[in-house]
Amino acid sequence: MTVSGAAKLAGIVGWPVAHSLSPRLHGHWLKELGIDGTYIPMPVHCEDFASVLKSLQAVGFAGLNVTVPHKEAAFALAHEVDDAAEAAGAANLLIFRDGRILARNTDAPGLAASLQESLGPDCVKDRVAVVLGAGGAARAVVLALSNLGAGEIRIVNRDRHRAETLAGTMKPFTRSKLATAGWPTAAADASLLVNATSAGMHGNPPLDISLEALPSHAAVCDIVYNPLETDLLKVARIRGHRTVDGLGMLMHQAVPSFAAFFGQTPKVTPALRAVLEAALRG
Ligand code: NDP
Repeated sequence: MTVSGAAKLAGIVGWPVAHSLSPRLHGHWLKELGIDGTYIPMPVHCEDFASVLKSLQAVGFAGLNVTVPHKEAAFALAHEVDDAAEAAGAANLLIFRDGRILARNTDAPGLAASLQESLGPDCVKDRVAVVLGAGGAARAVVLALSNLGAGEIRIVNRDRHRAETLAGTMKPFTRSKLATAGWPTAAADASLLVNATSAGMHGNPPLDISLEALPSHAAVCDIVYNPLETDLLKVARIRGHRTVDGLGMLMHQAVPSFAAFFGQTPKVTPALRAVLEAALRG
């Protein structure tokens, strides 16, 4: 679709950014909704991030998505942050408004929406959920599970000290009981397992855990989406667990960004998933 001289402008800033699915995702919605707007990928080095933000504000961008390695810098440069960004100490959405920068983190609501869509509205309410990982994404996962009403969230990480730090950092932002644990002890009576490590991602070794101890009724979610079916999800599926892939989170986390940039709330549909799955297949 062609754009006019008055087109709304937005995009994603990262380094690298060529692998990002966000331009296809937003591009699909722009076309579907017939919006006069454009969403472009922008590779930006860390040392240029602040000046690029200023320039994009000056030329009238509505805002930006921010990916690795700029999420913490985006948070630090903002004039105003939402609770999710505060909890994560990082932002993936910047909205430019009246010369100010508003920072949001949409990963937690994105995961919550994906889990509810796949597993039902009360999928972890008052139940035990296990989070694997203690990096940036794990913060969003803990927040999402807490917001879904999880009774207890057990954090398992290769480096146990990092798990403890994460539990301490997230305590003020969560209503659930937070604990750290080892695997497979953490699996006992769990209703949901979420992988928030980068293990299993294309180019990385798979997670080295057995699902033997996981109750058969437990669902398994992997927020890694490339490959779409990670080894963890494959083993879980074969064992009969319900599974949720990382594409759901990716699609849902983009909804508030699109609404902020282009003024319409888009829908996560099978057609959008098909576009992204085709892109992942290459
Ligand atoms: P970080 O680098 O911040 O954290 C990586 C985590 O993975 C650490 O806890 C690390 O453990 C753990 N880890 C890495 N390799 C292994 C391994 N072989 N075995 C066990 N644990 C391992 O990454 P992020 O938190 O930013 O991202 C994690 C993943 O989440 C990425 O794959 C990213 O693509 C995905 N993601 C998906 C999103 C979506 O929308 N679906 C959104 C955001 C992220 P340790 O501390 O011991 O080193």
